[in-house]
Amino acid sequence: MEIDLRRLQGDLRDLGRIGLREADGGVYRMAFTDADTEAKRWLSARMEAAGLEVRMDGAGNVIGCRPGKNRETPVLVIGSHIDTVPCAGALDGALGVLTGLEVLRAMADDGVELDRGVELIAFSDEEGRFGGMFGSQAFAGMVTPETLNTAVDPAGVMLSEAMRAQGLDPWRALEARRDPGSVAAYLELHIEQGPVLDAAGESVGLVEAITGLFKWTVTLRGEPNHAGTTPMDMRRDAFMGVADFVHEIPRLLDENGSDLSRATVGRVDLLPGAANTVPGTAAFTLDARDTDEGVLRELEMAMRKALSAIARRRRLMFEFEESSWIAPVACDRGILGLLEEGVGELGLSHRRMPSGAAHDAQIMASVAPVAMIFVASREGRSHSPAEWSSWDDIAAGARLMRHAVEGMEGVLAGRG
Ligand SMILES: [Zn+2]
Repeated sequence: MEIDLRRLQGDLRDLGRIGLREADGGVYRMAFTDADTEAKRWLSARMEAAGLEVRMDGAGNVIGCRPGKNRETPVLVIGSHIDTVPCAGALDGALGVLTGLEVLRAMADDGVELDRGVELIAFSDEEGRFGGMFGSQAFAGMVTPETLNTAVDPAGVMLSEAMRAQGLDPWRALEARRDPGSVAAYLELHIEQGPVLDAAGESVGLVEAITGLFKWTVTLRGEPNHAGTTPMDMRRDAFMGVADFVHEIPRLLDENGSDLSRATVGRVDLLPGAANTVPGTAAFTLDARDTDEGVLRELEMAMRKALSAIARRRRLMFEFEESSWIAPVACDRGILGLLEEGVGELGLSHRRMPSGAAHDAQIMASVAPVAMIFVASREGRSHSPAEWSSWDDIAAGARLMRHAVEGMEGVLAGRG
């Protein structure tokens, strides 16, 4: 049971050239740009050459189908995305799509036929030019007319304009919704984007759960005053409140979280923002994550209590706004078992692990059972031209993917 690594290397190289800027060596293939469209055309041609039935749905998702013997059976969906952040590396998203392509090609070469059809999908705007996961959300029926009317990129370009500029009718994105009964499972291979596997010298990770998160914007209000004339004990310094809170984060996680909990204050804005003025207002972001929904709810509660205690102590007003809440997703135990069997059979070094980053699989979990394979990222680098994985690890991931696709029937049969 093998894959053709050289063919996969060739595809990765060719796709990596689309949107590449020589100046910084980064890939710029943001969703619904010319480079993104060029990449989708290239991928469609490669899928056709591999004998897949290719189409693009209303959300701009590129879909290559390898029909099974039974056309009525719900399909197995595999895939990821080929859009990128600005100045990206060559593997984020692309590796999952091109590995899927190679697996289907290698199976065709060997004359493998499956009862169940397999659809390889490159989802649109996973990286978030217009908010993220647009393609998989459209597939899952989460895109609404409001999404289409309001989504804008950081430069103020409307999603609908950007889609029209690429020859797409944005309203057709509403037609990309698929009946959950038509999908049996979703399997995604992705680079780890973190340092854990590389540091341990392991090739692949079997994802047990994808982290959930909440994001808040917190505002603390005190009183702006003269930095020289206001005695220290008479201040209502909003930044002191931020400092107290950030300092308490490790304790809050120790007492209320799990060893998979993370919390980050990534941005602080101070007003008036002058060197000689006590900051009267501090607005900051809080991003907290865990793979267990109950733990996440406890963290939410603990953070709220801590903030109100700090506000009281520092004589500040505090308010917060939840800008997003994404529930964690547990991967399918049956498919995990199949992957576990695969790494054993193929002799691959591996570990079970959580995914700290969000992926299309998180959205697809609302449609079907999901699972993910991680491939070790060299030094954990990602969202950077330095992003890379060794060919050995890439080959390991691809072989495991093939094993899973061919063995999936054993897990899915009889589930209805
Ligand atoms: Zn990605």
